[in-house]
Amino acid sequence: MSEPIQDLSQSQLARLRGGVRCQVLTKDDPQYESSRHVWNGMIDRRPSVVVRAVSIADVMHTVRFARAEGLAASVKGGGHSVAGKAVADGAMMIDLSLMHSVQIDPSRRSALAQGGATWGEFDRECETLGLVTTGGVISSTGVCGLTLGGGIGWLMGKHGLSCDNVISADLVNAEGNHVSVSPERNEELFWAIRGGGGNFGIVTALEFRLHELLSVHGGIILYPRSSAVSLLRRYRDLTANAPDDLTAYAALLIGHGNPMVAIALCHSGPEADGAAVCAQFQLSSAPVADMVGRKRYTEIQTMLDFTAPAGLHYYFKCPFLRELSDEAITAIIAHSENLPTEQSQVVIEHMHGAASRMPVEQTAFGLRRVHYSINIMPAWSDPSLADKCLAWAQSFASVLSAFGASDAYVNYLGDEGPSMVKASYGANYARLAALKRKFDPDNFFRFNQNIPPAD
Ligand SMILES: Cc1cc2nc3c(=O)[nH]c(=O)nc-3n(C[C@H](O)[C@H](O)[C@H](O)COP(=O)(O)OP(=O)(O)OC[C@H]3O[C@@H](n4cnc5c(N)ncnc54)[C@H](O)[C@@H]3O)c2cc1C
Repeated sequence: MSEPIQDLSQSQLARLRGGVRCQVLTKDDPQYESSRHVWNGMIDRRPSVVVRAVSIADVMHTVRFARAEGLAASVKGGGHSVAGKAVADGAMMIDLSLMHSVQIDPSRRSALAQGGATWGEFDRECETLGLVTTGGVISSTGVCGLTLGGGIGWLMGKHGLSCDNVISADLVNAEGNHVSVSPERNEELFWAIRGGGGNFGIVTALEFRLHELLSVHGGIILYPRSSAVSLLRRYRDLTANAPDDLTAYAALLIGHGNPMVAIALCHSGPEADGAAVCAQFQLSSAPVADMVGRKRYTEIQTMLDFTAPAGLHYYFKCPFLRELSDEAITAIIAHSENLPTEQSQVVIEHMHGAASRMPVEQTAFGLRRVHYSINIMPAWSDPSLADKCLAWAQSFASVLSAFGASDAYVNYLGDEGPSMVKASYGANYARLAALKRKFDPDNFFRFNQNIPPAD
């Protein structure tokens, strides 16, 4: 969404700066350039100012200022929204990345993560105490941005989505007031923020339930692309009966110039079970590499970081398929023969277990079922390749619609429009729109996968 460019006047800037402890960057500040960039290098937007909040009070003052002056504001956590929702031309950007502390309470087995913490920071703190919760698989992703939309990761089969592990939250609402939410306090908002994204406020901290875990069995196995049919069928058959302890992704990619097919695994149960379950993914032919074994959980949580470097240009189409028929597998492999660049990949994620069994009305996350997310992810560095990459992803996704793809995970959406946002909330959409009318009737929080207030 594009706002008219609206430079703040000197008196506006003085009022904003007078109420906060933090930096307020305008386009004349040397740090403005770096602070306006997000993970996706294709996003090139210029906010009116960047408010680098360091406290709840900074966030409250900034929201109150924006409301009083009739200004728009976006919210940046880890900056991983592929559509670049964290930054908008001409709007203020409330950047939470300096609010990134993570405090563990070992006696309660809980963690309090500030609004701008990343999963890498979260996991490092938890590891020292042998504790974990379900988190995203790329360590630079924001804890809050990911959790507010749901949060899928290696532990989803056993411990549910990231949002299923939220105990309480602190947020700044559309009036600029601080609100605590939990099952006992402001329970409508507590329901809405567990899946409803950034639509209901700026979350300054999330409190998570933690679970004991230090090491897992997992890693990556790579085969030449010629093994794709047998490996993806094996993946389909094994994931269909996967224990909750196992989460498995498959990928079609290019490594050192060679087309490959990969399986990435994480088994969080007893070591002997993990080794046996993971061994079932091996084909009789020799792999290019087999990096599966006993690992620290934090190793698994960072092993895919190399696949998503910040600054490349990216575009996602990530439709869900209920099942991977032989025909769907054939179509996925056929389209992956034409990856538009060496950095592009197709990743299949199996969503299952505890994450799929939670009753859909229990949280705002809309699609509680077993399914596969087919993540079509072109990546490129030369801007002139954009049209080719987008066309490839869009034609791939339209082919998958023949196999029943009609909805997707809200956190993976680009700018796909209101109907896809609605579809990703399924039966929960009407309740979310009604709560949006109650808590944010002017749609102040609109730079997100937006749920407009119900009429
Ligand atoms: C490389 C990559 C890997 C990913 N891996 C996973 C994964 O394993 N599992 C998964 O579930 N998702 C994954 N995602 C999707 C990810 O969950 C979403 O992109 C999410 O929005 C990222 O949050 P962020 O804070 O990093 O992004 P940002 O771009 O900073 O924020 C995106 C939006 O989230 C909202 N938001 C962020 N922080 C706050 C806050 N503190 N308060 C209120 N609103 C906030 C705002 O509306 C903001 O516009 C991945 C995305 C990428 C690009």
